[in-house]
Amino acid sequence: MKQILVKYSKEQAFDELFKDVILAAGEENVKHVLFHIYSATSEEQPLKELSVLLKERFPEAEVAGTVSAGEICDAKLMTPGILVSAMFFEKADIRVVKYKEVKGNETAVGKQICDEAAGIDDIKAIELIMTGTEFRTRLIFEELSKCREDVQIFGGYAGGHSMDHGEHYIFDENGLTNNKIFAIFYAGKEFHIDVDKSVGWQRLGHHFTVTKADESRMIEINNRPAVEVYEKYLQIDRNDNFAENTFEFPLIASVQEDELLRHTIAVEEDGTLDLAGYVTEGMHIYLCFGNPSLIVSKVNERIEQVRKFRPEAILLYSCSVRKSFWEDFVDMEMLPFGELATTAGFHTWGEVKRNPVTRNVLEYNITLLSIAMREGEPRGEMHPPLRINDSVLRGQASLIKRLSTLVAATTTELQNAYNDLEKMNAQLSYLSRYDALTGIYNRRKIESVVEKRVEETAEKGTRISLFMIDIDYFKNVNDTYGHAVGDSVLVELSKIFKDAFQKFPGGNVGRWGGEEFFALIPNCGNAEAVKFAEDLRKQVEAYSFKGIKGPLTISIGLVTATGQEDRKALFKEVDDCLYFAKQNGRNQVSSLTN
Ligand code: GH3
Ligand code: MG
Ligand code: MG
Repeated sequence: MKQILVKYSKEQAFDELFKDVILAAGEENVKHVLFHIYSATSEEQPLKELSVLLKERFPEAEVAGTVSAGEICDAKLMTPGILVSAMFFEKADIRVVKYKEVKGNETAVGKQICDEAAGIDDIKAIELIMTGTEFRTRLIFEELSKCREDVQIFGGYAGGHSMDHGEHYIFDENGLTNNKIFAIFYAGKEFHIDVDKSVGWQRLGHHFTVTKADESRMIEINNRPAVEVYEKYLQIDRNDNFAENTFEFPLIASVQEDELLRHTIAVEEDGTLDLAGYVTEGMHIYLCFGNPSLIVSKVNERIEQVRKFRPEAILLYSCSVRKSFWEDFVDMEMLPFGELATTAGFHTWGEVKRNPVTRNVLEYNITLLSIAMREGEPRGEMHPPLRINDSVLRGQASLIKRLSTLVAATTTELQNAYNDLEKMNAQLSYLSRYDALTGIYNRRKIESVVEKRVEETAEKGTRISLFMIDIDYFKNVNDTYGHAVGDSVLVELSKIFKDAFQKFPGGNVGRWGGEEFFALIPNCGNAEAVKFAEDLRKQVEAYSFKGIKGPLTISIGLVTATGQEDRKALFKEVDDCLYFAKQNGRNQVSSLTN
């Protein structure tokens, strides 16, 4: 196969302009001719005329045209104009099918494309020339993902040079349309195709979660208007230049082993971002930025793959954002492809590609899609290794490169710190309520529980019983068996108390400090409380604690209250009762009722 490129101009005679194409088409061994037209203009008349002319002069040929944001001729961005790529196939079968009325019928159209492919012998690839903005593309791709696993699927979205009014049209001899899809089916035993994407944009900061989305409208991030991510982290304000200002910092969404970049086309009044591609709720997204050295190294990897493939023709479908990003250096990453084979293509408003692992067809932004084609076994010598010549970038790029490294390093540190902080916050929130040693409520928490329950008691006119419990001669435990044994006694005892008090609805216990505990039982009169406290005292006396010989006892101060009492005085009453139990010989309950 081969590819011939023609920069079209109305001023020049057709036969003169297309001299090489006419010659090539006349060759005996040519089986199919495929015309791609990439056009900077979206003026219908000349595009229709050109398509009609091509159909007249090459009746057997297939034509698929798209309005483009940049025309790539011989691996270089050409002066905005109309580029015709003529591909001549000797063995492959090429078929262009045009699907009408796509809007509202996305799923059905996706199915039809799939069915068409299934009926073609040795189908190898499907190329889609379409607009991305008009359709619910996700639905089309869901269907296309069901195509036979080994079928490559790729494509680019139509859209003009101007960022403001997209001009998302494709065209053929019937004129311009934004409601069709051109599907080009590449088939044949001896047709080989290799498609991949290169990116090189680098994540910034920690992730956010998409919390509200509708196809390509991202409404909320982390439950806030989506635009706030740009306002807060990059100080990019909502104004007419919002889309341009955010181009350098698109969003990257991670989905099943793949990364989808999304750039903003516009911001709505409520802070919704209109993206060049869909997002779904629950997606994790990051801000990211173009790191020149990473981009160059990614594209270099791809150039090496294409070199080994030994293509006879190459298409480059590159995101228009890459064009804005590189500005004067836009050709740099494309030129090496031109050394390997005749290279044509366009700057797109979105790229389509099938994921090699999941086999899902996805929509990308900011990628450079390189499509290498060949018929039969590789011919001639393999081209020696080649790389992007980025020496032109050295001056400014070295600064960006160093800053990128700094950002990447601090980003990793930040992400780690953020993770640590999340863990510490969880720990802190736990410690603000629970005692670290025993795992029961701490003093602050049990105090607030008592406060609340006492208030309820006053409101309801019922009774509440409050307990202060202290271990007898606990100092001796430490002195005799050591602090560790003392600790384990506190843990065992806490469990006994917790089990005992939680048997009552609303019953609770907490560590008051040292070897003292405070507990409560709402809706509990004095007689019932005294009986319970006596049982608990006996239970502890009978219990054998780990590492301790003989019994250990507790003293309990108990007050049954109405809830009307002054709080301070009430706590003192409970404390006084405990003091009395101690003075009176320990291992006993001392109670009082209000
Ligand atoms: P009494 O019967 O009068 O309450 O005598 P006691 O020895 O229990 O009381 P005292 O207040 O003299 O001593 C309390 C002891 O409790 C002193 C302290 O070492 C020990 N203690 C307090 N908190 C902890 C702790 O978290 N772990 C251990 N192992 N011991 C503790
Ligand atoms: Mg004690
Ligand atoms: Mg004490």
